[in-house]
Amino acid sequence: MQLKDLEDYIGSLLEVDRFRDYCPNGVQVEGRDEVRRIATGVSASQLLLDQATAWGADAIIVHHGYFWRGEDAALTGIKKRRVAHLLNHDVSLLAYHLPLDAHAEFGNNAQLAKLLGWQEQGRFGEQDVACFGELIQQQTLSELADGLAQKLERVPLVIGDLAASVKKIAWCSGAAQGYFDQAIRLGVDAFVTGEISEQNVHLAQESGVAFISAGHHATERYGVMALGRHLSAEFGIEVQNFELNNPV
Ligand SMILES: [Zn+2]
Repeated sequence: MQLKDLEDYIGSLLEVDRFRDYCPNGVQVEGRDEVRRIATGVSASQLLLDQATAWGADAIIVHHGYFWRGEDAALTGIKKRRVAHLLNHDVSLLAYHLPLDAHAEFGNNAQLAKLLGWQEQGRFGEQDVACFGELIQQQTLSELADGLAQKLERVPLVIGDLAASVKKIAWCSGAAQGYFDQAIRLGVDAFVTGEISEQNVHLAQESGVAFISAGHHATERYGVMALGRHLSAEFGIEVQNFELNNPV
């Protein structure tokens, strides 16, 4: 498959043009034209680049790429080494940020709901990235946390009454702790996201709405994996996901 066709296909699949994002979505670093092997992963760290190129990837697709708004644009130090690695190996880097959080099927939030059996009822937050809905069955907060620990293979940080029952929940993958206010206003019993800030603890205690910090990496593994499986099924391309655990 040609790189350009791959980029066009994913771009329309994930409706990339619909989003105002903090980084370029699509090809961030251009490699060879022909793509036979695609590596996927959450973040384009040096370790992912090393493993993907050792495996023989022609292109790497990630959720967290490079060139974030506000960062120093100079290609020096760590950034120089990463970009040089890609260019030296003639391997492309494609990144999809908000479009890969939000997509109704392949998005991190949709995949999280699928994995945990949550029923989505609507969206909220900036550009409708975050979700709210219900658990299939009412659970205690403790049971909800245990389910997350089991499915995400990471013990979450839970702020709330473990014996309280949870039916309505809101969730947003990654660092979406800033949406807790809006989640509280939706009248949910619990909010699940990847990271937590100091003030979230007070808001949880004063609102009675539980806050679960389930891991930024852990909540953002599943979108890029689903996209990879789809590309493999659709085009017969060899796709390999590289899970490089991150405690945050
Ligand atoms: Zn993220």
